[in-house]
Amino acid sequence: MSDRVYIFDTTLRDGEQSPGCSMTVEEKKRLAHKLVDLGVDILEAGFPIASDGDFEAVDAVSREFQWVTVAALARSCTLDVERAAKSLEHARRPRIHTFIATSDIHLKYKLKKSRQQVLEEAVRAVELARQHVDDVEFSAEDGARTDPDYLEEISKAVVAAGARTVNIPDTVGYSAPKEYGTLIGRIVKALGDCAIVSVHCHDDLGLAVANSLAAVEAGARQIECTINGIGERAGNCSLEEVVMVMKTRNDLYPYRTGIHTEHLYPASQMLSSIITFGAQPNKAIVGRNAFAHEAGIHQDGYLKEKTTYEIIDPKTVGVPETKLVLGKHSGRHALHKRCEELGFNLNKEELDVLYHRFTALADRKKGVMDEEIAGLIEQGLAQHQVVGD
Ligand code: MN
Repeated sequence: MSDRVYIFDTTLRDGEQSPGCSMTVEEKKRLAHKLVDLGVDILEAGFPIASDGDFEAVDAVSREFQWVTVAALARSCTLDVERAAKSLEHARRPRIHTFIATSDIHLKYKLKKSRQQVLEEAVRAVELARQHVDDVEFSAEDGARTDPDYLEEISKAVVAAGARTVNIPDTVGYSAPKEYGTLIGRIVKALGDCAIVSVHCHDDLGLAVANSLAAVEAGARQIECTINGIGERAGNCSLEEVVMVMKTRNDLYPYRTGIHTEHLYPASQMLSSIITFGAQPNKAIVGRNAFAHEAGIHQDGYLKEKTTYEIIDPKTVGVPETKLVLGKHSGRHALHKRCEELGFNLNKEELDVLYHRFTALADRKKGVMDEEIAGLIEQGLAQHQVVGD
């Protein structure tokens, strides 16, 4: 079995549909640019039937990013699948991602349908999607709480109907690594070489990354995740964390992704500047304190030898090396350098505008944080419609 794990980014879809995270089409395009630089394999850009904005976002991303697979979400029904297909018309590598809930609890209370009805609808939706595109993914919503026998049956049926990827989400973040790994292993064995098994884990119990890794060990080869772990409720598997576990502990997790990790921090910063909140300060990999050392004993060790307290070189994930604090005494040059480190290439005029805003803010504060700088740039870009980097 190949050691390549595909990274399916759903920041623009699952992430975007959570409180405080809505993005305009322009913002989605700007972030998509960064995600493509980051090297994600599949970019889920929206749920086209949900709104015109989502439709436009998928259409815009499809037109602009020809070298990445663009996915559009659709429930397992004709209207949704056709709307998704239409939004992907200009994509060079379109993927229709169709889903239906499969757990008894969802069938009984939400769908009010029998297992047989759901299976037939899933198969019909996949067949219809295949009439539009070659690359079809099927998701068994609430898969982790679905009867494994039925989950295996529906997985085989959708693959026979033409699905190339079968996603088994832990929609409610209820599963645990051992249990989830066992379930995924069973589906991997049942599908063999006929399809890639994918995972989509939510973080309600803080296990999304651990569950995704257990699934990869059991044979899953696609991880659905988001920048900063944003998403419904407690969020999704965090892209930067799951990728950096596989890179840092490659001895334990001998898998490869296509992610250029030096873009992780800039991507996180850009997302924070677009939505209403940033990563928590102690967030692994991208939090403000992730590479900060305050305790005397730690500082002493760190200054003697970095690896005493640092398991990842901050440069690897794109965290600016310089510990220079930017404040009201900082000049244009320092500001320009920090912008570049954050992934924004500004021209002289843009820098001038930014410098004005920056000094106004710095006058009121002791030091200006990276995310505040990124926020100022985003405001400037939104007003002038200039695209950075
Ligand atoms: Mn989800």
